[in-house]
Amino acid sequence: MNIAETPVKFLATDLLARFVAIVGSKNAITDREAQAPYLTEPRDMFRGASPVVLRPGSVAEVAEILKLANETATAIVPQGGNTGLVGGQIPQHGEIVLALNRLDRVREVDPVSNTMTCEAGVTLLRAREAAADVDRLYPQLLPSEGSCTIGGNLSTNAGGTAALAHGIARSHALGIEVVLPDGRVLNALNKLKKDNTGYDLKDLFIGAEGTLGVITAAVLRLIPRPRSVETAFVGVPSPQAALDLFGLASERATGSVTSFELMLRLGVELVFRHGAGCRDPLPQAHPWYVLIELSSQARTGLRAVLEEILAEGLDQTKMFWRIREMFGEVQRHEGGSIKHDVSVPVAAVPALIAEANAAVAKLIPLARPLPFGHLGDGNIHYNVAQPVGADKAEFLSHWGEVNAAVFGVVAKHGGSISAEHGIGVMKRDLLPKVKDPVAYDLMRTLKRTLDPKGILNPGKVL
Ligand code: ZN
Repeated sequence: MNIAETPVKFLATDLLARFVAIVGSKNAITDREAQAPYLTEPRDMFRGASPVVLRPGSVAEVAEILKLANETATAIVPQGGNTGLVGGQIPQHGEIVLALNRLDRVREVDPVSNTMTCEAGVTLLRAREAAADVDRLYPQLLPSEGSCTIGGNLSTNAGGTAALAHGIARSHALGIEVVLPDGRVLNALNKLKKDNTGYDLKDLFIGAEGTLGVITAAVLRLIPRPRSVETAFVGVPSPQAALDLFGLASERATGSVTSFELMLRLGVELVFRHGAGCRDPLPQAHPWYVLIELSSQARTGLRAVLEEILAEGLDQTKMFWRIREMFGEVQRHEGGSIKHDVSVPVAAVPALIAEANAAVAKLIPLARPLPFGHLGDGNIHYNVAQPVGADKAEFLSHWGEVNAAVFGVVAKHGGSISAEHGIGVMKRDLLPKVKDPVAYDLMRTLKRTLDPKGILNPGKVL
């Protein structure tokens, strides 16, 4: 994986001044140090450079910026909370960054229709709080909720740990407002569950990673808040045993199985070693663990169901989730990590893990696979940590080979190379190799039609 530092692109002084004038100099960042938080991403794998970070305060300003960008063929990279993991939000070619954090109004909460209209820069945490204020749940759940934003969640079609019961970002949006590359504002802020008036344009922009338009607001679907939630942390001997338990839980739960997360013992040990506030909740070690969460509208009864499923109840919910949330994060303490965000049909998860382990062992015998993630969705974060004491750069130089081996297994099981993190730049060159050629061609046609000058997030996805 290349860590590329891009030079600041020259932008004629008078043109720069026209962009700055749209948002005001107070909201245009040209100082390199002040720009820093917008130029690197959480894992520091992609770095960018930008002549200016523009922070518009209204949809009209976003529209003006795109109109000017289109007229002058100036490239723009839209950015939400900058928590994306595939580099899609980073200005790799010296583009202008369009940071949407100031569009942070919750425009409306309608508990009767069960909808909420949020602007793109509202953080996921604030959206969830706004829903909770009217006794509703906004069911997207991501570890980065304090900084990731609604616009970014929708642009990347984010998944997370509650997708099993409630779906991915796409399923939460009833309507969206989008500024098109030519500056026109598409108002599809629809609160309707049923609207059969032609093509579903909204879904074109969700998951497009800012390459077709800039999402500025969305109508989000709310659901009743669960009246009871029960959580268990369970040791199991194998991924197959975890899958069997998932089958049992799905069959027996009176409410819903909200989360069903799989973790390997070695990774859990890393959490105990590097993460604060966690200890082994079980008296003895197990090769694998699952974190199960059930939720229900009934105030009582869920505990009994869970106990029936597990024959043993535990009440250490917060720590269970802490272990799961730190599972990915603590791996950086162990040196290099080659990462995959893949999905296969749920039934194929045990085979995926076994076959990918074998393929990786053939390439780098002492590498440490650390698969974990959303077993219930068939979405495994198949991370591979470097051998103990190995040279990090040397290990990471095998990124492409390890990817190819793992993706080979994924393809064999009819899976996807990006379950929930998107394509960005990280997987851009892989996409034409795995996507149906007609689908890929159609994506390119759409891009050319909506953004003929290629000003929006160039070099991402396609
Ligand atoms: Zn995930």
